Amino acid sequence: MRTEFSADLLRRPEIAELDTILRKCVHCGFCLTACPTYAETGDERDSPRGRIYLIKDMIETGRTPSAAVASHVDRCLGCLACQTACPSGVDYERYIDIGRAHLETVHRRPLGDKILRAIVSAVLPHARRAGWLFKLGRLARPFIAILGGRLAAMAERIPAARRRGNIYDRKQTFTPEGAARMRVVLAPGCVQQTLRPSINDASVRLLTRLGAEVVIAGDGAGCCGALDHHIGRDAKARNFARANMAALMRRDGEKTFDYIVTNAAGCGTQIKGYGRLLAGEDEAVNQAADMAARARDITQVLAEMGLPAIAKKSLPQVIYHDACSLMHGQGVTQPPRQLLLDAGFRLREIPGKHFCCGSAGSYNLMQPEMAGQLLQRRLRAIGELGDLDADQEKTVIATGNIGCIEQLASGTHIPVVHTVELLDWATGGPRPPGLEDGP
Ligand code: SF4
Ligand code: SF4
Repeated sequence: MRTEFSADLLRRPEIAELDTILRKCVHCGFCLTACPTYAETGDERDSPRGRIYLIKDMIETGRTPSAAVASHVDRCLGCLACQTACPSGVDYERYIDIGRAHLETVHRRPLGDKILRAIVSAVLPHARRAGWLFKLGRLARPFIAILGGRLAAMAERIPAARRRGNIYDRKQTFTPEGAARMRVVLAPGCVQQTLRPSINDASVRLLTRLGAEVVIAGDGAGCCGALDHHIGRDAKARNFARANMAALMRRDGEKTFDYIVTNAAGCGTQIKGYGRLLAGEDEAVNQAADMAARARDITQVLAEMGLPAIAKKSLPQVIYHDACSLMHGQGVTQPPRQLLLDAGFRLREIPGKHFCCGSAGSYNLMQPEMAGQLLQRRLRAIGELGDLDADQEKTVIATGNIGCIEQLASGTHIPVVHTVELLDWATGGPRPPGLEDGP
């Protein structure tokens, strides 16, 4: 693609990077059919190629973007299906990051939008704050409903109260059963700890059962920064990145960690991409490369360790939903499937093309309409499996990302759980929440 950035603009490293990315695009349009938002609207401006043009034009001309341009860029899920589909290797992930960060500096958002973004940024990355907000929201839900609009839609999505589990925000070590086979540090995540603490609980149980010493790093290890990064607040995202690197890469005496384990697909993708987020900070970039080399989704580590003896005989069938950040962001599709099969579950594949479920970090809060349409599209695809009504009690949906769990669960009666919760249960752990009365 031809570009016409001024010499002044090209002196900015991120614009030079944008220029290099753009030159790879040959306008072929192969990415269009992979794009969930384009599938919904049929509008080229809601496609990867359309957004590439919109961002290029916005930066090249220096014009203030219209509300319509901002809306087409905002509607991108960041699912990266386009990047997987692109035959020319266009780095769409980096491109949209730069585009979003630029948009934040030049676009005046309506007040409601600003408030929503401020709440997402100030609360969701902090497990305890999120817990308090959810409590408050549950109490205020009837009153908020009267106001209507996006706030009411947000209140509708506040999850039901759950038994509070461990909040993994202090340094602690879980010893392995038997001889230690490896030593890992678990990235504890942020809002996941409040929404579904059972995921970290199951992860620790499963890893220690297999012989891993599991360390929780404590102070500084928390939100990976993705929630801020995805809404263009890169300065804050970089602070989270530096704090996580300091905590998760800290040497414990002479001991180092074999792997940095993530169990939220979005966090894993973000952590593996710290080097790009911190571009320009040479020492941090080197450390980020080291961190990326050691970061693994939990299913990759479990696959390497192999499952222990299977304790359960009668298990439900599992519909496996690929979280986009695991599938496109990290290229991890086989390990979770193989582990579920090894554990004795019958695996059902969702028919048709894979599309994002509409969760995408805080996307379902920011873009509830599009997120709702995409959820229905995904649920229709699941419905095509056909024989689920009869098997309702014997079927669960599994996925590797807390956002997908909450999003899918908001539209179906089928229990939705994390893959590690099923693997933990099959190998001797408790039933995952939502399956207490199930199969
Ligand atoms: S990241 Fe997803 S939503 Fe955004 S342009 Fe690419 S395919 Fe479309
Ligand atoms: S598939 Fe790749 S090269 Fe083709 S239009 Fe899309 S981004 Fe450009």
